[in-house]
Amino acid sequence: MDPTGKPWNPDKALIAWENGKWVGDVPDGPWPPLADAKGKYPFIMHVHGFSQIFGPGRVDGPFPEHYEPVETPVTSHPFSSQLQNPMYKFVSSDLDKLAKPADPAYPIVLTTYSLTEHWCGGGETRNVPSLLEAEPQLYVEMSPELAKERGIQNGDGVIVENVRGKVEAIAMVTVRIRPFQVQGKTVHLIGMPFCFGWTTPKCGDSTNRLTPSVADLNPNNYKVVRFSEHLENNTIHWNFFPDQCRHCLEPPCKEEADNYEEGAVIQDAETGAVIFTDKTRKISDEGFESMRSACPYDIPRRDPATGLISKCNMCHERVVRGLLPACVKACPTGAMNFGERETMLFLAEQRLADLRKDYPKAILADPDDVSVIYLLVDVPENYHENSVAHRFQPPMDRKIFLSMLGRPLRRSVGAILKL
Ligand code: SF4
Ligand code: SF4
Repeated sequence: MDPTGKPWNPDKALIAWENGKWVGDVPDGPWPPLADAKGKYPFIMHVHGFSQIFGPGRVDGPFPEHYEPVETPVTSHPFSSQLQNPMYKFVSSDLDKLAKPADPAYPIVLTTYSLTEHWCGGGETRNVPSLLEAEPQLYVEMSPELAKERGIQNGDGVIVENVRGKVEAIAMVTVRIRPFQVQGKTVHLIGMPFCFGWTTPKCGDSTNRLTPSVADLNPNNYKVVRFSEHLENNTIHWNFFPDQCRHCLEPPCKEEADNYEEGAVIQDAETGAVIFTDKTRKISDEGFESMRSACPYDIPRRDPATGLISKCNMCHERVVRGLLPACVKACPTGAMNFGERETMLFLAEQRLADLRKDYPKAILADPDDVSVIYLLVDVPENYHENSVAHRFQPPMDRKIFLSMLGRPLRRSVGAILKL
């Protein structure tokens, strides 16, 4: 669009400034277009407000590229010398198994999806009898051509196996899935929902046995949803916990980092965000280990390639522009709230009182000490080990003890609340 907010091509307008407001898509920054006295540059994630299409020393970009997934039916890219995303982080452990490209033992491509009848992972909806009746079991969707090739009839029980595991599923033979011709050979696709598994009687295995593992917190992944299962009164319970930095009001990671490099960890006075800066590169490995073990929630991670120590920064660059943290804004169910600390604590207490009618063990996790406050519906012992600080025994040394004596009073800062 031009600086007055008029689309260059009105026939393909995504968004336009009309009569003092934006019409069409919702802009990230709500301010007027650039020609207006209150206008600003639009790219809010960059300090200068401009777009960037490339930067020096990058192995990917500047333009979007097609890459094959790490498990692919081909060994060469049809129009590039780079088969897979060069940014892909390969991790190795007993659980991180990947088939090599075009592995003849695993020639079929699997895609997974959710179902209208079952919400996301299905944890809630799989126990609703009418929904379970509508979609009762794990199934595997396949083309008539693949079914014929493997001698499978619609409704047969089949085993789907890959390098990571195997599951049993019911065959659903459908013409909506078609075989592909890829580099002169036939490649079959199958589809499986990820909404079933284990806790609901007779609904069968979980497709998650086949999908690759998800990495732990790392320099490229500031938030992970941790999953804990426990047995109570002969019933299996699942608890999920979106783990990230809690932005402690008196951050032990900063106390510890200050012993090694002043300014490596800073705390923004206005928002309370605890931010790891470029200076973390200067902290020794011993210093990093001290920071990590001082954190009651085991959050800091170091990138071995750059030496940077990193974690969630509360989307500080967004928050100072009056925007919500990206995860709060993107959450489709509104499970997170963001605002002034007093407002969030009030909201948290209200929600806690409400939930305790059905979940008498519900608690707020360390609300007096952190800015990111979680509401747990179960006792902390039934969540992952670092869900609350009281499960943590800090390796207190003299330096930490002395620095704690000089701590300022707790300040009132912004808070995120997870409900
Ligand atoms: S949660 Fe850990 S990394 Fe985050 S501010 Fe607190 S001590 Fe630092
Ligand atoms: S606040 Fe921002 S940096 Fe932190 S977890 Fe959410 S999206 Fe990531």
